[in-house]
Amino acid sequence: MEIKRWNAVALWAWDMESDICAICRNNNMELCIECQADQDSKMDDSCTVTWGICNHAFHYHCIYRWLKNRNTCPLDNREWEYQKYGH
Ligand SMILES: [Zn+2]
Ligand SMILES: [Zn+2]
Ligand SMILES: [Zn+2]
Repeated sequence: MEIKRWNAVALWAWDMESDICAICRNNNMELCIECQADQDSKMDDSCTVTWGICNHAFHYHCIYRWLKNRNTCPLDNREWEYQKYGH
């Protein structure tokens, strides 16, 4: 419980917008919409929050799928570069 709370505070301090993944609209602290629909696949280990250099955060699965089509951040259209992966 205490670890969860620490993560929430750290995320909030980092960027309030990073609470929600703009691609699937699920909370970044939870699974992305695909993993949530298919929880038997045990993909939750890799389903983690990922930041770009623009400080926007998405689920790793969501931004990975997005980057197959274009190499920009979905929120600001700047070129995407990974800054931080995981909590
Ligand atoms: Zn997502
Ligand atoms: Zn996922
Ligand atoms: Zn961005």
